[in-house]
Parts: sequence; C-alpha cells; structure tokens
Amino acid sequence: MDAAALRADFPILDQEVNGHPLVYLDSAATSQRPLPVLDAEREFLLRHNAAVHRGAHTLAAEATDLFEDARATVAGFVGAQPDQLVWTSGATMGLNLVAYSIGNASIGRGAPASAQLALRPGDEIVTTAIEHHANLIPWQELAARTGAVLRHIPAHDDGTLDLAAAAEIIGARTRIVAFTHVSNVLGIVNPVAELVALARSVGALTVMDACQSAPHLPLDLPSLGVDLAVFSGHKMLGPYGVGGLYGRSEVLEAMPPFLTGGSMITTVTLDGAEYLPPPQRFEAGTQPIGPAIGLAAAVRYLDGVGLEKVHAHERMLADRMRAGLVEIPGIRLLGDAPGERVGLWSFDVAGVHAHDAGQFLDSRGIAVRVGHHCAAPLHARYGVTASVRASAALYNTVDDVDAFLDAASGIRPYFGV
Ligand code: PMP
Repeated sequence: MDAAALRADFPILDQEVNGHPLVYLDSAATSQRPLPVLDAEREFLLRHNAAVHRGAHTLAAEATDLFEDARATVAGFVGAQPDQLVWTSGATMGLNLVAYSIGNASIGRGAPASAQLALRPGDEIVTTAIEHHANLIPWQELAARTGAVLRHIPAHDDGTLDLAAAAEIIGARTRIVAFTHVSNVLGIVNPVAELVALARSVGALTVMDACQSAPHLPLDLPSLGVDLAVFSGHKMLGPYGVGGLYGRSEVLEAMPPFLTGGSMITTVTLDGAEYLPPPQRFEAGTQPIGPAIGLAAAVRYLDGVGLEKVHAHERMLADRMRAGLVEIPGIRLLGDAPGERVGLWSFDVAGVHAHDAGQFLDSRGIAVRVGHHCAAPLHARYGVTASVRASAALYNTVDDVDAFLDAASGIRPYFGV
C-alpha cells in the first residue's frame, strides 16, 4: 500500500503547522476525508438535493435512490443486508438507540416480540472495564431505569480482557453483553468470538462498538455473530453526523422504536400509531442524507485500497511506534499486549502532564490527542487521569511515525524531567 501516494487525496495533510510539516496522528478521534468523499457530498448538494422518500418530483426520486444506494454500500461494507443497517448520527446515538429501545421494551412498549428484550430488576447487563463512555453510560442509565444490575469484565494489566472473569460474570441473569471491538485507548482487538460464545451460552444479546475497528480491519458483522453493532462515519473517512447501527434482522424486528415522529410510521391517528419495519422504524425525522452519501463514498474508498492492506500498513506503523516509544525513558504504554491491534498507542510520560506533552508535540507539528479519551474508568485502572494517544490511519507514513518518535523523545528533556 502506497500511503504517500494516497495523501494526494487528502489535501489537508499537505500543510505546515507551527513551522513543521503536519503529522496527523489523531485519526481515532476523527479521520480526514479524501476528495471523493467531499466530491460525493458536493455533487449531491449541487445536483440532487431533496428530502428522500415519498417525493413526487425527480430530485426527490434521485435523492432517494442515492440515499438507499448508500445504505446498501455501507451495509455491504460490514457484510450486512441493506435492511440491517439503520442510519444514526454516530456511534453514541446508535448505542443510546439500543439502550432506550430495550428500556421501552422493559416498560411493555413494542410488538409482542419486544417482550423477549425486556429487562427486569435483578437482570444483568455486562460491559467491560475498557469501554468508551458511549458504551458505558447508556447501560448505566438503562440499569437505573429498569432495576437491572451493571457488571464489568475486568482487564489484565496488558489491556486484554480477563476472559476467565468474563466466564464467571456472564451467567444465567445476563441479558446483554456490550463490549468494544477495539478500545480507542488500547488499540487491542478484543476476542469477539469468545465473548459472543459466552453471551450465546446464556441467551444474552451482544452489542459491539465497532468505531475503532470499522476503518482499520476487514469487518464482517454477521460472521462475527454479534446481534447489534455501531460505528461512526467521521472515524472512517466519512462525514460528521452520520453513523450506522447494524442489527441481526430478528433483533431489529423485536426492538421498539427509540425516537418517534415522521417517516417511521405506517398509520397515525390522534390516539396512536403503527410503525414501519426496520430500518425505517428507527429513522424518525429527516435523515443525514448528504452525509450518508459521503459515507458510502468513504467506504468505497476504503474498499478500493483494501482493508487487508490498510490493516497490514497500520500494523506496521503500530509496531514501529512501539519499537520507538519503548526506547524513550519515562514513557509507559497503556495496554502493551502482543496480539492483534490497530495503529494506535496511548502512553503516560513520567513527570509531564499529558496536556503539556500534547502541546509540546503540537509545537513540532504533531497532532495527537490528550486526556482520558472518554474512557475515564480505564485510565483510573492504570492509575492516571490522562494519557497521550497517537493514532494512525491509512494515510500515515513511516516518516510520520519517525517525526513523532523524534519529537516524543524530546518531551521529558524539554520539561527538564
Ligand atoms: N466508541 C469508541 C470506541 C470511540 O472511539 C468513540 C469516539 N471517540 C465513540 C464510541 C463515540 O463516537 P461518536 O462520538 O462518533 O458518537
């Protein structure tokens, strides 16, 4: 894979920041968009913009075709059928949609099949100690609303999940197992097959956060066996404000709606309404049409490069980063497990606050993220409140990594520690 050649599609990368060539290592927060994504959105707005479905005019029909083609393309990217993909505004909304839908099932809303999703006091929701807040707080809220109990699979020091503990925790009372495919702090690819097998053995629903895997690994959600999964467009070369919720058809069909209103109904009277089948049942209101079309262009771009190649390239960058970081005195990697991973590392710099380290790197043109990366409990697990995270994407080069390592080696000397 020729990352240097791909960069021509990402003009934003070709600039100087603070007198240095920009080294963008913050793709886990948001990725940059290639020209074909910008072109697809622009072309839609310039030539075809209209509200979708039910329009009697030509532009509405064109917009509907482009929107539904985008659904098929993005669904295909994760191995799904078009009606298994619900548009959302991002992963956070997707996870809230699931949690609120199950909450609605728990108070008796929905079709008869929804009863199978209902939680009762004492039922258990299992998540992990390494989740992004988006895959933690919605479950805390759902537990509070239903009387369910929230439990957590702990992590080992190397950042891998403790599967022996998981086998103890996932039991007869477990109704939901929610876990991330790849942590946005650790970069480790979690053992989906094992977690799905444990959940299935007790009849629990699985919910996977695929935000940090979808842009970096070949992803076939049906073959992974998860019931539901979410991802965010802006982390996978696509626009802000659009994401996907994948669901196994039986599960989506059993789920009551979360948001209600226009575009998700068959009939409405003043006293009640009948709802459309999935995915429209979950798409109340005007959808992010242009962003969905942009996201389809983004996944076509990723597919054009090839996810196997993307993964191998980013893995090479990750290994190079690690080799350099472990040589720098005072740098401690969070989650230094040897197995499968994507191209990101978070680290603590002894004696230097992560924000100071980030500002120093910025003064050298290096863009990284600092803070708890919306995973405060995970940072507490490592005894820190913040870390520095460098995260690569397909457009990063060996030169980027070397410039980052060179600058990182200067952090502690600069601060005199
Ligand atoms: N999960 C993970 C693992 C993430 O990295 C993020 C974004 N940092 C989210 C969920 C939330 O995504 P969004 O803010 O796009 O909804």
